Amino acid sequence: MEGKTILIAEDNEDTREILLYRLKTMGNFQILLASNGKEALEIATQSKPDLIIMDLKMPVMDGWEATMALRQTAWGKDLPVIALTAQAMEKDEEKALAAGCTDYIPKPIMDYGILKQKIERHLKQSPVG
Ligand SMILES: [Mg+2]
Repeated sequence: MEGKTILIAEDNEDTREILLYRLKTMGNFQILLASNGKEALEIATQSKPDLIIMDLKMPVMDGWEATMALRQTAWGKDLPVIALTAQAMEKDEEKALAAGCTDYIPKPIMDYGILKQKIERHLKQSPVG
Protein backbone atom coordinates (compact mmCIF):
# COMPACT_ATOMS: atom_id res chain seq x y z
CA MET A 1 0.00 0.00 0.00
CA GLU A 2 2.75 2.43 0.95
CA GLY A 3 3.98 4.57 -1.90
CA LYS A 4 1.49 3.25 -4.43
CA THR A 5 0.38 5.61 -7.15
CA ILE A 6 -3.31 6.22 -7.77
CA LEU A 7 -4.67 8.19 -10.69
CA ILE A 8 -8.00 9.96 -10.18
CA ALA A 9 -9.77 10.68 -13.49
CA GLU A 10 -12.81 12.87 -12.79
CA ASP A 11 -14.08 15.90 -14.68
CA ASN A 12 -15.98 17.45 -11.77
CA GLU A 13 -13.49 19.57 -9.86
CA ASP A 14 -15.30 19.33 -6.51
CA THR A 15 -15.57 15.53 -6.73
CA ARG A 16 -11.91 15.34 -7.76
CA GLU A 17 -10.79 17.45 -4.81
CA ILE A 18 -12.89 15.46 -2.35
CA LEU A 19 -11.45 12.20 -3.69
CA LEU A 20 -7.94 13.61 -3.45
CA TYR A 21 -8.52 14.62 0.15
CA ARG A 22 -10.12 11.28 1.08
CA LEU A 23 -7.40 9.22 -0.55
CA LYS A 24 -4.72 11.18 1.27
CA THR A 25 -6.32 10.15 4.57
CA MET A 26 -6.39 6.48 3.49
CA GLY A 27 -2.69 5.91 3.05
CA ASN A 28 0.62 7.18 1.84
CA PHE A 29 -0.39 7.22 -1.81
CA GLN A 30 1.09 9.28 -4.57
CA ILE A 31 -1.93 10.78 -6.28
CA LEU A 32 -2.22 11.95 -9.87
CA LEU A 33 -5.17 13.89 -11.27
CA ALA A 34 -6.81 13.94 -14.69
CA SER A 35 -9.96 15.76 -15.78
CA ASN A 36 -10.92 13.63 -18.78
CA GLY A 37 -10.21 10.22 -20.27
CA LYS A 38 -7.68 11.46 -22.79
CA GLU A 39 -5.67 13.16 -20.08
CA ALA A 40 -5.97 10.04 -17.92
CA LEU A 41 -4.50 7.89 -20.70
CA GLU A 42 -1.64 10.32 -21.27
CA ILE A 43 -0.79 10.53 -17.57
CA ALA A 44 -1.14 6.78 -17.10
CA THR A 45 1.10 6.08 -20.09
CA GLN A 46 3.75 8.35 -18.65
CA SER A 47 3.47 7.53 -14.94
CA LYS A 48 2.18 3.93 -14.86
CA PRO A 49 -0.06 4.22 -11.79
CA ASP A 50 -0.90 1.15 -9.67
CA LEU A 51 -4.63 1.84 -9.77
CA ILE A 52 -7.05 4.21 -11.52
CA ILE A 53 -10.29 5.63 -10.19
CA MET A 54 -12.17 6.40 -13.38
CA ASP A 55 -15.27 8.53 -13.68
CA LEU A 56 -17.31 7.21 -16.59
CA LYS A 57 -18.94 10.41 -17.79
CA MET A 58 -16.23 12.84 -18.82
CA PRO A 59 -15.74 15.23 -21.74
CA VAL A 60 -13.21 14.72 -24.58
CA MET A 61 -12.94 10.99 -23.87
CA ASP A 62 -15.23 9.21 -21.44
CA GLY A 63 -14.21 6.60 -18.90
CA TRP A 64 -15.50 3.66 -20.93
CA GLU A 65 -13.44 4.62 -23.94
CA ALA A 66 -10.35 5.35 -21.84
CA THR A 67 -10.62 1.99 -20.08
CA MET A 68 -11.03 0.13 -23.36
CA ALA A 69 -7.95 1.90 -24.75
CA LEU A 70 -6.00 1.08 -21.59
CA ARG A 71 -6.87 -2.60 -21.95
CA GLN A 72 -5.22 -2.62 -25.38
CA THR A 73 -1.84 -1.77 -23.85
CA ALA A 74 0.67 -4.29 -22.45
CA TRP A 75 1.15 -2.38 -19.21
CA GLY A 76 -2.52 -1.44 -18.71
CA LYS A 77 -4.33 -4.63 -19.60
CA ASP A 78 -4.50 -5.88 -15.99
CA LEU A 79 -4.31 -2.56 -14.18
CA PRO A 80 -7.05 -2.18 -11.54
CA VAL A 81 -9.66 0.36 -12.65
CA ILE A 82 -12.44 1.33 -10.25
CA ALA A 83 -15.23 3.07 -12.19
CA LEU A 84 -17.33 5.85 -10.70
CA THR A 85 -20.86 5.11 -11.84
CA ALA A 86 -23.99 7.23 -11.60
CA GLN A 87 -26.20 5.89 -8.83
CA ALA A 88 -29.42 6.07 -10.80
CA MET A 89 -27.93 4.40 -13.87
CA GLU A 90 -27.90 0.65 -13.28
CA LYS A 91 -26.68 0.08 -16.80
CA ASP A 92 -23.53 2.04 -15.96
CA GLU A 93 -22.28 -0.83 -13.83
CA GLU A 94 -22.74 -3.44 -16.56
CA LYS A 95 -21.21 -1.13 -19.13
CA ALA A 96 -18.27 -0.42 -16.83
CA LEU A 97 -17.47 -4.10 -16.46
CA ALA A 98 -18.04 -4.69 -20.18
CA ALA A 99 -15.52 -1.94 -20.95
CA GLY A 100 -12.95 -3.75 -18.81
CA CYS A 101 -13.26 -1.92 -15.49
CA THR A 102 -12.21 -4.09 -12.55
CA ASP A 103 -14.81 -2.77 -10.14
CA TYR A 104 -17.16 0.17 -9.64
CA ILE A 105 -18.55 2.42 -6.94
CA PRO A 106 -21.68 4.55 -7.34
CA LYS A 107 -21.53 8.34 -7.08
CA PRO A 108 -22.11 10.22 -4.90
CA ILE A 109 -19.86 8.10 -2.70
CA MET A 110 -21.63 7.72 0.64
CA ASP A 111 -19.20 5.35 2.32
CA TYR A 112 -15.51 5.98 1.80
CA GLY A 113 -14.74 2.88 3.90
CA ILE A 114 -16.04 0.77 1.02
CA LEU A 115 -13.87 2.65 -1.45
CA LYS A 116 -10.86 2.11 0.81
CA GLN A 117 -11.57 -1.62 0.99
CA LYS A 118 -11.82 -1.83 -2.77
CA ILE A 119 -8.59 0.11 -3.26
CA GLU A 120 -6.72 -2.08 -0.78
CA ARG A 121 -8.05 -5.29 -2.31
CA HIS A 122 -7.22 -4.32 -5.87
CA LEU A 123 -3.79 -2.95 -5.00
CA LYS A 124 -2.92 -6.29 -3.44
CA GLN A 125 -3.90 -8.02 -6.68
CA SER A 126 -2.20 -5.44 -8.86
CA PRO A 127 0.30 -6.98 -11.31
CA VAL A 128 2.62 -4.08 -10.62
CA GLY A 129 2.98 -5.38 -7.07
MG1 LIG B 1 -18.26 13.14 -14.84
